[in-house]
Amino acid sequence: MIIDAHTHVFSEEQIAARAVLCGTDPTFAELYADPKAKLATAAGLLTELDAGAIDAAVVAGFAFANSAQIAGQNRALLEAARANPRLIPVATVNPAQPAWRAAAEQALADGARGFGELRPHNQGWDPLGAEGKALCSMAREAGVVLLWHVSEPVGHRYPGKAGGISPVELCRVAETFPTLRMVAGHLGGGVSFFLYMQEMRTILRDVFFDTAAWRFLYDEGSVAQLVAQAGASRVLFGSDYPLLSPKGELQRLRAVLPDAAAASVCGETAETLFFGTEIE
Ligand SMILES: [Zn+2]
Repeated sequence: MIIDAHTHVFSEEQIAARAVLCGTDPTFAELYADPKAKLATAAGLLTELDAGAIDAAVVAGFAFANSAQIAGQNRALLEAARANPRLIPVATVNPAQPAWRAAAEQALADGARGFGELRPHNQGWDPLGAEGKALCSMAREAGVVLLWHVSEPVGHRYPGKAGGISPVELCRVAETFPTLRMVAGHLGGGVSFFLYMQEMRTILRDVFFDTAAWRFLYDEGSVAQLVAQAGASRVLFGSDYPLLSPKGELQRLRAVLPDAAAASVCGETAETLFFGTEIE
């Protein structure tokens, strides 16, 4: 199986309400006020998957702050995933909102395979605080995945860079919640280097890394380096669609990785993580 493990879609209603959402959600505005920034539907994603001969995709929405937007988004996403099993949905949550637990439990009951892409500091919660711990406990208990927006603590700025979890915070969450399976987006913001430390290898045992948007962040050799650090069975191909084309990103990964590593990264790792099939 070929799986794109990092994509984003919106409902038709939210795409139609783009200007309104830019006025109400500062993080949404940061990413999407620019009319050149694309918004996609689940149908658009499926067309792109077909174009790239990609079997399935992990699909997230967007980390809205507002509960009503989150509810509408999760409803549409989970409905699309029920209609098409090629879509592996991860639901949006905002633990800073009072009624978030019930909404998150409902999303799990409706088929969510995890939560993400998590942007705690955009939404106003602390991943190491009470709300963050409650979310991690819930995910670990349910056996689902947390997909975090992790960005580089250094380097150039771009819309949406800040507001996720920092590499250090991610290490602390992993230490507090062993066996909680987490995906560190965007090559993990440097976390993988710490896998060269024996104690961090243990702490980070259940942390995976995706390649979302790497062409905008790192050099050509970075993914092979990540595979060397973490192992191919811990790295997932992610395009960050609609920011980038799944087909194009898949080709780019296959060009920089040996075949066996590419097979893991482009599908087997995500299969294990989201479908529980055993690979070694
Ligand atoms: Zn991200």
